[in-house]
Amino acid sequence: MPLDEYRKKRDFTKTPEPSGDGAARAGDGPRYFCVQKHLASHLHYDLRLEHDGVLLSWAVPKGPSLDPRDKRLAMQTEDHPFDYGSFEGVIPEGYGAGVVMLWDYGTWTPESPDVDAALKKGDLKFRLDGYKLKGSWAIIRTRGYGDSSKPSWLLIKHKDEWAGPIDITTFAPLSVKTRDADFADILAADTPALWHSNPPAKTGDTGRLFQRIIAAALAMRGDRDAAATPPAESAAAPAPRPRARKTAPATKKRTGASR
Ligand code: MN
Repeated sequence: MPLDEYRKKRDFTKTPEPSGDGAARAGDGPRYFCVQKHLASHLHYDLRLEHDGVLLSWAVPKGPSLDPRDKRLAMQTEDHPFDYGSFEGVIPEGYGAGVVMLWDYGTWTPESPDVDAALKKGDLKFRLDGYKLKGSWAIIRTRGYGDSSKPSWLLIKHKDEWAGPIDITTFAPLSVKTRDADFADILAADTPALWHSNPPAKTGDTGRLFQRIIAAALAMRGDRDAAATPPAESAAAPAPRPRARKTAPATKKRTGASR
């Protein structure tokens, strides 16, 4: 079963992530893709491509680059259920504990004629049509990275009209699901108790992890505010600014029950 590994790693009584029990999406329509920015023990970006009812997944530590000279390491991870692709929120404990932001989504089109054969060969070419990522890309398998015996892949932008020397992760750091939300907003909206009782009430490893995650979320907001405001104003320490979440009209509204 393609989702066995996904389910084995998670306790669905403790995580808001979808269990994958929902029906896989049938269809010949456009294939969905997303990139979820995941602030866990380490910040990374999860690229997911819909194929055969599940989301093929790679963790990209530095995130995608629009510069064809950059080869971004991408570690393949377990297939995820299709409905994971719209998930944004806080994973309070366990595998992947941290904050997930829906950083980009849209549709993808294979440029390799046979996706399964291309994956087996380790060279998949495809087009993305998202809000941030567009045009032609390749993901290419290499030998293992570091000590890992698992194969790693490289995510590379092809030269086209959507390529350029832009650090898209810095240029467009925020959520495409919840307008202008950063990690701090998602934390504050999803876990107000955790946010306002910094340090969090939880003790032990999870508590320490979340103290680090909250500090990292505030530091990222601080960096962004410093870049956007004159020096005199940026001298003030960044403060949490919890607020109601605004959902972009084009996206599905979050409902607690469906997660
Ligand atoms: Mn992840």
